[in-house]
Amino acid sequence: MNKYSIEPSHKKILQVISSEEDCTIPQIAKALTISVPTAQKLTQEIIDAGIIYNAGKVQKGEGRPANVYRVLDYSLQVIAVEILMKHFRIAVVDLNGNITHYQDIPAFELRDDEECLNFIVRQIVDFAKCHHIRPVGIGISITGRVNINVGRSQSFFSNAPKSISDLLGEHLDLPVVLTNDTMSYGWYEKLIGHLVGVDHAFYVNWSRGLGLSMFSNGHMLQGGNGFAGEFGHMQIGKTTRPCICGMRNCLGSELSGHAIERDFQDLMATFQDNPYGDEVTYHQVVELALGGDVNAIEVLRHASRRLGEEIGNLLSLMNPEVVVISGTLYKAKEIIFDEILKGASEKALPESFKSCSFRIIPWEPEYGLKGVAMYFYRMFEFI
Ligand SMILES: [Zn+2]
Repeated sequence: MNKYSIEPSHKKILQVISSEEDCTIPQIAKALTISVPTAQKLTQEIIDAGIIYNAGKVQKGEGRPANVYRVLDYSLQVIAVEILMKHFRIAVVDLNGNITHYQDIPAFELRDDEECLNFIVRQIVDFAKCHHIRPVGIGISITGRVNINVGRSQSFFSNAPKSISDLLGEHLDLPVVLTNDTMSYGWYEKLIGHLVGVDHAFYVNWSRGLGLSMFSNGHMLQGGNGFAGEFGHMQIGKTTRPCICGMRNCLGSELSGHAIERDFQDLMATFQDNPYGDEVTYHQVVELALGGDVNAIEVLRHASRRLGEEIGNLLSLMNPEVVVISGTLYKAKEIIFDEILKGASEKALPESFKSCSFRIIPWEPEYGLKGVAMYFYRMFEFI
């Protein structure tokens, strides 16, 4: 068994051992509907490959103590990479979603040129070589559109002769999967977060941009090429501000974090004495609102109501059971939640609204790394 081609029966055993605290051979045999001797033989093969170990005898229920098996903490690892406009993080994430190594590349700015691509590849290769790890692959989360079929970003480095997946594959001889940031956060929630066991759901990434991960029948709707979920670029925004995509009327241009900044600054410009200064970030707008500033509260409430309305329209289309709102704007929960609900209730069919549960859930920077790693494990059927 080499590290890239784990047999299906071995993967199933790994799944059983990962999900049971103290897993015995009879439990494996029962889960796979195979005989105990066969389970013993297959388990020994995975021990020989250095992926699991015999943790000794444990008393389980009645009868004699039985040998139990566990996955070695370091045996299954994915190098997870997150590339955002101003952040570049690399980590090692194990099968349980724990980060075991982490590096934040300082002062990073994403540019659409080959020099930036080569810098990213060099950092990942150096990271892989300086840590004593033996990963099964690399998961990359990058902002913008990602063509999941060819493992290439459409928004960055699309003119480079070789994709980031090809370059990394050449240097490290590892399989590479690519997805975008909102889908990584969605995978995190679906595979180890708040959406575990939920088949029909929306994950709304409300941060500096606006993105959506959609789940139907337990599967993420990625689209034919991986471009699905571009909620922020739908032409339903009540604004003519130009969007980063080159179009106007994008919803994100009306109510993303960036738009909230602009709204607040536009409002301030109408005041004779502006007490806030010229450069107010949307994070500061949230802090001001939480501190009771009526202007900041008004801007956030307006954006929340509009977000709720457009989510309400999508409820009628997709009928999710759960909508989770996350991203960095989650911190304004006490101000935004009721407005989102009001907006959604006004626009959605009553049946769709009543059957849907709304939640605002925390967001942490590491969720992108964990999410893309869990996506890799899922793609290669480790989970
Ligand atoms: Zn746009």
